[in-house]
Amino acid sequence: MAMSKTLQCTLCEEKFDEKSIKELKFFPHTMICSTCYNEAEKDKSVCFAKKKQYDKKSLVCSKICPDRKVCKLYIRMQHAN
Ligand SMILES: [Zn+2]
Repeated sequence: MAMSKTLQCTLCEEKFDEKSIKELKFFPHTMICSTCYNEAEKDKSVCFAKKKQYDKKSLVCSKICPDRKVCKLYIRMQHAN
């Protein structure tokens, strides 16, 4: 059996492997899974993946926010549809 590294989501504690990362079910930059990011997107109290609030020129969106890489990816995925 091949050794597969298991990673755990910091929010829901669900476990993921490298295959999940390739399938965009888990984001190792922030150690948070796509299910939790989907929840964050629906949550009105957070800005995550909100098109109107995302601004790549803003310091928060481009340098400070821990979710910036994943958020950018999410926005791109939404536009692809
Ligand atoms: Zn999660």
